[in-house]
Amino acid sequence: MTGDPTDDSEPTDDEGHHPATPSSGTGEPSVENPDGFDSRSATESDAVEDVPTLTCSRCDREWDLTYELEDLQVGNRAVEQFALDHHRHTGHYPDGVTPWLADCQQCPEREPFLAERPAHRFAEGHARHTGHPVTLTAPESGTSTVGPEDVR
Ligand SMILES: [Zn+2]
Ligand SMILES: [Zn+2]
Repeated sequence: MTGDPTDDSEPTDDEGHHPATPSSGTGEPSVENPDGFDSRSATESDAVEDVPTLTCSRCDREWDLTYELEDLQVGNRAVEQFALDHHRHTGHYPDGVTPWLADCQQCPEREPFLAERPAHRFAEGHARHTGHPVTLTAPESGTSTVGPEDVR
């Protein structure tokens, strides 16, 4: 902290003006939902309960997850359950759902997960029991590898 804080609020004509932008907006961090689930603000009038809905632009359809919540009783994993079921039956995921992939480098298996934690648990468990390194592919932050040395 040396010297007086220069007051940029008033432009001085003497030394030529440079546009005083107090905070340069370079590389503005895009705030995104890490869960990949866009919880739309439901209108308060018809919010019966907190039943999430999912849409799929490929199917051009929209679902609420009452079935998952009431019949399957999967609770807060309803979105995950629906998305995995949707992928199982259609080969793709609903809108806004990007899975984690746990891909064993030695087995043909490739398991999708909708959250980091179960993906990591699978990778660690597989590496622990088989000694195989497992590559985890995150929806946005790239890949990482869980090897047997990580789970000793
Ligand atoms: Zn679909
Ligand atoms: Zn394996």
